[in-house]
Amino acid sequence: MKQTPSPRCALDVSTNADLHCHSRVSDGTLQPEELARRAKTQGVELWALTDHDEVGGQQRALDTALSLDLPYLTGVEISVSFAGRVVHIVGLGFEHQNPALIEGLRNTRGGREPRAREMAAGLAQVGIKGAFEGALKFVGNPELISRTHFARFLVESGHCSDVSEVFRRYLTEGKPGYVEHRWAKLSDALRWIHEAGGQAVIAHPARYAFTPTEEYALITEFMGHGGRGIEVVTGSHSAAEAIKYTETALEFDLYASRGSDFHSPEESRVDLGRLDGLSGRLKPIWELLRDRIHWPR
Ligand code: AMP
Ligand code: MN
Ligand code: MN
Ligand code: MN
Repeated sequence: MKQTPSPRCALDVSTNADLHCHSRVSDGTLQPEELARRAKTQGVELWALTDHDEVGGQQRALDTALSLDLPYLTGVEISVSFAGRVVHIVGLGFEHQNPALIEGLRNTRGGREPRAREMAAGLAQVGIKGAFEGALKFVGNPELISRTHFARFLVESGHCSDVSEVFRRYLTEGKPGYVEHRWAKLSDALRWIHEAGGQAVIAHPARYAFTPTEEYALITEFMGHGGRGIEVVTGSHSAAEAIKYTETALEFDLYASRGSDFHSPEESRVDLGRLDGLSGRLKPIWELLRDRIHWPR
């Protein structure tokens, strides 16, 4: 008897996977359900919602994705302090009810409110009043007030014309609204992800402005803690950066990931599912996560 191939076998390097985006649960503007519908409409074939430091949107994303016949991987983007910089680690395919992961993320979020008050004080010194309250109006989850919410307030109040200008003028190192913060440790973030059954991925490696030596240290330390993935094609990389990190993934024998880093229809450069493909020379991270995918019935 002729067998129809199971859709579970259809994944390969050319799959339209989008494994990085944000909802209102962190600093995106759409709800998890709206993102699931948008991913489906845009042709995504394997999806993960990766809110910053929070898994509270996972069940909603999972339920909606499966109802739309869209395979789903759980996701999170964890803020980590490494060598005096902030590095983002994406976790994929973990058990989203894992208590140690939930508790670790809660502790990571804990510093955001005092940091936001300090950011507002810095902005007040250059004449921008009421930024804490202003940013809060854009926040879906008060524990996750972020620079993005300040940026939206500064655009709304006419101080800047778009969020990129806000980051450039006010929210990056050395600027009045920038406050240094200690996030999770790399080793903790990887332990939480691995103990919950998932895999870790270095998010948008080109964004850290590391020297080659610092980047080597990040990758080797990450791999030393069992990390196996790196983002190659992302909305946060140029085409040239994707080529560079294709070679990096091959050099270190890392699995490659792909994700738009979509936050908002108005602000994001790349929409869900509208990314270049991974090079056929790469091993996609979803190969490693095959058993962790939630498949529609
Ligand atoms: P936070 O976690 O509060 O430090 O905020 C970091 C978030 O700010 C990132 O997740 C991005 O969404 C956003 N972001 C960082 N740099 C920029 C930039 N140059 N332009 C626009 N958004 C940015
Ligand atoms: Mn963000
Ligand atoms: Mn990021
Ligand atoms: Mn992101």
